[in-house]
Formats: sequence, C-alpha cells, structure tokens
Amino acid sequence: CSGSLVDKNVYDWSSEEEETDGRARPVQVLVVKDDHTFELDEAALSKILLAEEVRDREVVAISVAGAFRKGKSFLMDFMLRYMYSQASDKWLGDADEPLMGFSWRGGSERETTGIQIWSEVFLVDKPDGSKVAVLLMDTQGTFDSQSTLRDSATVFALSTMISSMQVYNISQNVQEDDLQHLQLFTEYGRLAMEETFLKPFQSMIFLVRDWSFPYEFPYGQEGGMKFLEKRLKNQHEELQNVRKHIHSCFTNISCFLMPHPGLKVATNPHFDGRLKEIDQDFINNLQVLVPWLLRPKNLDVKEINGSKITCRGLLEYFKAYIKIYQG
Ligand code: GDP
Ligand code: MG
Repeated sequence: CSGSLVDKNVYDWSSEEEETDGRARPVQVLVVKDDHTFELDEAALSKILLAEEVRDREVVAISVAGAFRKGKSFLMDFMLRYMYSQASDKWLGDADEPLMGFSWRGGSERETTGIQIWSEVFLVDKPDGSKVAVLLMDTQGTFDSQSTLRDSATVFALSTMISSMQVYNISQNVQEDDLQHLQLFTEYGRLAMEETFLKPFQSMIFLVRDWSFPYEFPYGQEGGMKFLEKRLKNQHEELQNVRKHIHSCFTNISCFLMPHPGLKVATNPHFDGRLKEIDQDFINNLQVLVPWLLRPKNLDVKEINGSKITCRGLLEYFKAYIKIYQG
C-alpha cells in the first residue's frame, strides 16, 4: 500500500503479537475469515474494555466505517490527535509532524474485513460533570463481490449496533451503491435487534470525501445536510424506501462534505501525513469536522433500549451480537 501514510509508522504488529511496549495501537478485535466465519478476539477486546479505569464508565463508541483506501485511517489519526490533545485549540499539531495511529507500515496492511479498536480508551469530562469513556473503532470491508458484500454488511451492522455514532466514510458522492449497502447493513442490524428486542441505532453521519461541487453545496455540515436531503429525495422509485428505512433506523442523521486533500495526500507514496503538504481547504474543514464529532459536549453515550451502557456492558453486547450472526 505505497499510498498510505504508513512508512513512518511506529506501530508494527500483527493480531497475534502481544503488545511489547505498552504503546497504544489499533487492535483487530473482529475478523471475517475466508470461509465467511467471524472471529472475535475476546481476550483483546476484554483487555481494552475491562481495564480498571474504564470498565464501569459509560461508553461513547465512535466508529468510522467504509471501504478500504478511502482515507479512513487518515481521518482517524486526526481524531486521535484531537483526543490526545484533550480538545485543546492546538490539537491539529505542527506543520511538520508526521501522522501516526491507525495507519500501518507499508505492505503490512492486509485488507481484512473486520473491526479494529484503538487500544487506549479515552476518559473525557463532559460539561455536565460526567466522565465518559471514548472508544474509537475502524470498521472496514470490501464490496466487490456478493460474498464480500454480505460479510461487510454484517460487520457494518455489528459496528452500527455497537457504536453510538457511525461515520459512514464515502468517496466523492452518495452513490446508489452506498445507499444500498447502507440499507443492507441496517437491515441486518434490525434483524438482530428484533431478536433481542432492542431499539434501533443512534447517530449516522455520511462523510463525503473529495466533494467537488462546493458551489452547489458548500463544504461542511450545512451544505451536507442540504445535499443529503436532496440526494435522498431524488431517487429511483425502487430506492425510495431506502430513504424511509434509513430514517427509521437512526435517531440522528447528518452529512458532512469534505474537500479533496490535495495531490500529495492522494498520490505521493512518501507522504507521511504532515500538515504542510495538505491542502488548506481540507485542513480548514478538518478543523470543523473533528471537533464537531468529538467535542466533549457532543459525545453521546451508547444507549441500548434507553439505558446507558458502560464499557463492561458493551463487551457483553458485542459477544451477544456476534452470536446472532454465528448462530
Ligand atoms: P483507509 O483504507 O480507508 O483507511 O484509507 P487510508 O487512510 O489508508 O488512505 C488511503 C490513501 O488515500 C492514502 O494514500 C491517503 O493518503 C489517501 N487519502 C487520505 N484521505 C484522503 C481523501 O480525503 N481523499 C483522497 N483522494 N485521498 C485520501
Ligand atoms: Mg485504514
């Protein structure tokens, strides 16, 4: 994967490798194997969610989901910067600082359909005085054949059920495919929820990357909402119920239009994520997007059936949901 930020990355590990230096890193907690079975790394997940400082805290679970090579890790590394800087005004960092985090060392990034979790759960004080635990998840899949589509939809359904906020990362536009995939995975999710008598999902954010019509719909959230409304209305008949379906699944739906980050990001194999090589338009919007997603005030605790869930509780739901798909 010569295009990723990853050459300079300090994290080099495989799923079976134990953490050696205690450094935070992405941990693959769920894998879909070639025979389409799901494998949950319960030990790894427990280690993260049952850590003493976090296990009894209410959890905010944020997932970024989408196909490979669409800039998810790149975005999540900026989300990590924000979390590590404790929402400081200078969270974006220095112009010359390489990006680190979810990205992988060149070549070792296998295209594994599944879920990775950042091993460090962040404790955040909300303005109302509560302290919450924030979990970051990276949900990836491929959508290139019937069987990978099904696997990916299942994984996306799982991460949608587990998260309080699902960021659906898509490229350039909201295509019919994207909506069909979304319908598929919310349907899988609803099926599972019916079985457990649970209520539907919380927040869904369509994050459109490389938006190239800012004169029609401006970058950001307001432009995004107007665009999404129009996009969901202007559908072929057979897709009309996708719109109803999506609205019936989520408590909040929004959309954010991101500009292209510039050619160095998209094509230079030696690009390591430093700000000075990223287009200013992109940086400006990143400075709106990331705090909008992660500002302490905006962090919503995961709720299931109207009850707030702790990290310990989330582990149990994770295991229960996986069983539904395995069974
Ligand atoms: P992931 O597989 O979805 O996690 O994608 P990555 O974050 O690893 O990024 C894949 C490639 O796309 C890398 O070369 C990035 O530098 C580049 N990239 C990151 N963000 C964007 C973006 O918003 N637009 C474009 N066109 N490329 C991006
Ligand atoms: Mg990635």
